[in-house]
Amino acid sequence: MRAFTYKAPSSFSDAGEAGKSNFIAGGTTMIDLMKLEVMTPEQLVDINHLPMRGIEFGNEGLRIGALERMSAVAAHADVVKNYPVISEALLQSASTQIRNMASMGGNLLQRTRCGYFRDVHTPCNKREPGSGCSALDGENRMHAILGTSSSCVATHASDLAVALVALDASIRLHHGGSTRLVSLDDFYLLPGETPDKETKLKPGELITEILVPRSPWSQRSTYVKIRDRQSYEFALTSIAVALDIDGNQIKDARIAAGGVATKPWKLPRVREALIGKPLNEQTFDAAAKLAGEGAKPLKQNGFKVELLQRTVTRALMKVGGLA
Ligand code: SF4
Repeated sequence: MRAFTYKAPSSFSDAGEAGKSNFIAGGTTMIDLMKLEVMTPEQLVDINHLPMRGIEFGNEGLRIGALERMSAVAAHADVVKNYPVISEALLQSASTQIRNMASMGGNLLQRTRCGYFRDVHTPCNKREPGSGCSALDGENRMHAILGTSSSCVATHASDLAVALVALDASIRLHHGGSTRLVSLDDFYLLPGETPDKETKLKPGELITEILVPRSPWSQRSTYVKIRDRQSYEFALTSIAVALDIDGNQIKDARIAAGGVATKPWKLPRVREALIGKPLNEQTFDAAAKLAGEGAKPLKQNGFKVELLQRTVTRALMKVGGLA
């Protein structure tokens, strides 16, 4: 690990500009990447003393301070009752120890798990722009089938982000005394020709809070994650889904996928196929067939198309009370 300086400000004004600094909260991704010299900040700015805490539920919905730990949010009674998809996504992320340490804001900014990104001896456009993409013709079983480019095919790693995008969440960003609100779906960028640019975050800007609107569907929601082992593993496919049901009819739905795309991936065609339809397995199967439209599988991950469709059906059966 390279030498760095450290400061721990107690106000936003003292946090200052990022420059060659990196903000750090739980450090569960950052320290790994610094040890590997994938990230080499000259200064770490510890933001744990900034006023970015709290979990509150009211008429407008849910507000979560970006410094709240994953485990605290997953166990919070209002989250468990009103937004089960968020609690479930968090509990299927990482390990107990990491969830106790990692912040909500940091989770949304975690870097990809592509092995080449973490190996400084191999070409990787995301780590070193213009060097090439080792995954295109290399190990790509875990990689994306949606939202890819010829420059990068890495999946987005966060389960939490998939749940929040499904629920139309926003994040508040702070910089130089002013704030702006950005839809989380818009916040993440497709790789295009610049996979090193992953979000709309500007230098020195911080995520201060997460806002999830109140809705008629969020209480009936769930997160289904398919992975190679049942603990401490990233998704092959995942689905966050929420349904608003009236009797035996689906009034509205929200659905997004993880593990298959370069950012949390909304499934609008699946949603459209659910609205106004009867709540049964035939509806779910027909809607699930629309997942994966536009997919561009690589040599080793063609299985993800059918797995995604099966994951959609499983999640719908579970949230619809038919499983
Ligand atoms: Fe790097 Fe993206 Fe290619 Fe992985 S998929 S090697 S992160 S450019």
